[in-house]
Amino acid sequence: MRQSHLFTKTKKEVPKDEASKNAQLLIKAGFIYKEMAGVYAYLPLGLRVLEKIKQIVREEMDAIGGQEFIMTSIQRKELWEKTDRWNDENVDVWFKSSLKNGTEVGFGWSHEEPITELMKQYLTSYRDLPTYVYQFQTKLRNELRAKSGIMRGREFIMKDMYSYSLDEAQHQTFYDATIEAYLKVFARVGLADDTFVTFASGGAFTQFSHEFQTITDAGEDVIYINREKHIAINEEVMNDTVLKELGVTREELEQVKTAEVGNIFNFGTVKCEQLGLSVVDADGKSIPVFLGSYGIGITRLMGVLVEHFSDENGLVWPEAVAPFQIHLVSLCKDAIDIKKADALYTQLHESGIDVLYDDRDARPGEKFADSDLMGMPVRVVISPRTLEKGEVEIKYRTSGDEKHVALTAVMTEIQ
Ligand code: ATP
Ligand code: MG
Repeated sequence: MRQSHLFTKTKKEVPKDEASKNAQLLIKAGFIYKEMAGVYAYLPLGLRVLEKIKQIVREEMDAIGGQEFIMTSIQRKELWEKTDRWNDENVDVWFKSSLKNGTEVGFGWSHEEPITELMKQYLTSYRDLPTYVYQFQTKLRNELRAKSGIMRGREFIMKDMYSYSLDEAQHQTFYDATIEAYLKVFARVGLADDTFVTFASGGAFTQFSHEFQTITDAGEDVIYINREKHIAINEEVMNDTVLKELGVTREELEQVKTAEVGNIFNFGTVKCEQLGLSVVDADGKSIPVFLGSYGIGITRLMGVLVEHFSDENGLVWPEAVAPFQIHLVSLCKDAIDIKKADALYTQLHESGIDVLYDDRDARPGEKFADSDLMGMPVRVVISPRTLEKGEVEIKYRTSGDEKHVALTAVMTEIQ
């Protein structure tokens, strides 16, 4: 992509009410636009990051048998009444509205109820189980506070997956596979060392749900961890009974601030019973279905990545999710030099590398500051000075390493 064609520009100012580092940096770099508190639009550069994160998640969900689909945002009230989750006392984030004829509807903050209702049409026999479905969808939640930038949106993208299983053992096998798949996702985006599978409250069936918590000062949660024993406990369930059950003492645990990037639940057969989803077993007897629910906050994860990897100059994207692998910055002014820069861009682009080409007529200082702010993993500078020696300058954003490479050797160096 030619930067001169990009409609977004970097900005010096951010909205006064924007307190979070992730949103400030993303707004400055032209990745997102703030519509209002907790509501952000994803601009071309931001969208590329989101799509890369989604693709990683998609690959890992497909690998454990997930089937992608997409549900609706408008939901029927009566389904949520059956499980007692329509009530604002039980669910405090509902956005609700009504149709012209007066019928009340809700906007999807989660999807267990409508998906289970849908599955009644397709899952009828034990042979239909297990079934795993997932979606990437914009969830709508009327959050009381939205001060964490894209880490807490009133509108945000979640990957939510649902498992329908025949029995406890079948459920558990998939639940465990999901934990592994989630850990792969967080490792692929560069957060392996700081993300913990955490005991937390929730789940209708079991005592705990499992949260995936990433250490960050920008997080809103507090958990207790023991790195050696790989144990992490959310403060909300920290008590003597839990400690005893997990075989740790309070002294062995370190308190850290975290953001919840994922959460998985075992609903047992409760929800399917409430909603009337059952299948017939081999003897023709009707049996209840086990439901598991598995979320990853896609946009929150993007925010956590910004908080985790940025430095004093701006964003620092891990290679796996960077909008472009290379920022080709041209300082060329003469037609002959510009031609060489254009040729290098074409060569990189045509060999399948994602390149952002700063072909703008701007001062070098401005170009470098913008490039630092936008945070691509590799910067390639081509200028009259480097071209004198038939070279370009390559700088790696994370390590800060710089080297001069012959124009003819750029492809090899990059690969
Ligand atoms: P929180 O405790 O942070 O409010 P939650 O427990 O209500 O989150 P879940 O219902 O478990 O959230 O949703 C699954 C995942 O979606 C969470 O683990 C989180 O990563 C993400 N998520 C939840 N709420 C938001 C939000 N308002 N903005 C962005 N991501 C969110
Ligand atoms: Mg949660």
